Amino acid sequence: MNKIIEGGCFCGSVRYSFESNDYLSANCHCSICRRTSGAPFISWMAIPLTYFEYNEGTPRKLISSSQGTRYFCKDCGTPLTCLLDEYPKYIYVTICSLDTPQDFKPNSDMYVEDMLGWVKT
Ligand SMILES: [Zn+2]
Ligand SMILES: [Zn+2]
Repeated sequence: MNKIIEGGCFCGSVRYSFESNDYLSANCHCSICRRTSGAPFISWMAIPLTYFEYNEGTPRKLISSSQGTRYFCKDCGTPLTCLLDEYPKYIYVTICSLDTPQDFKPNSDMYVEDMLGWVKT
């Protein structure tokens, strides 16, 4: 079995884990990621749903568009995960809610056309 990667929100109410593997990741520069995080972009990693579990707490759900649902900690607001109708077998996890985000450099950029002019990647 592969190593288990863990993460969670700022306050610790929500914790999650998944099995380590070579997953796709991206910085998303869309306006919804920006608004829901208050940051210039969100770095995501796509984990097969069957490998992912919440170990503590239940995040609050936000229907953020007609195709996507986001989940964040109801106590501290940390954006944690996203589900997309188009890719129902995956859960997207915010890389910066992982305990070791330095180990997971995103390998692409999405919605580059919406990227703020002062962001360098
Ligand atoms: Zn929290
Ligand atoms: Zn986005």
